[in-house]
Amino acid sequence: MDRDSVIERIRQRMAAGALPRVIPPLTAPGKPTSPTGHIKFDTSIGIVTCAACDTHGAQVAYRFPDGRILRFHGRCHRIWEDECRRLSLGIPASTAPVDGRPVD
Ligand SMILES: [Zn+2]
Repeated sequence: MDRDSVIERIRQRMAAGALPRVIPPLTAPGKPTSPTGHIKFDTSIGIVTCAACDTHGAQVAYRFPDGRILRFHGRCHRIWEDECRRLSLGIPASTAPVDGRPVD
């Protein structure tokens, strides 16, 4: 799946609530670099599907404070984080391609 398709899926899923719209907040006092969600490399590589693009081989497991675990490819995870940042800045998706292409 190409990057644009993944971005589109992630945007749709975030809009539908299937993917979180925010990166989990930082909660550990004195450890500002430690999010409550954390990333670990999973042992079920190649078996689980990616929460973003639905293909197999997700490499990153992201555990959220509510206990939900989402698995992503490394690339898909970065795209999702980019989308979260974009939303947090209030930039409309249609005018803010995350890969730096000029608009129109
Ligand atoms: Zn993926």
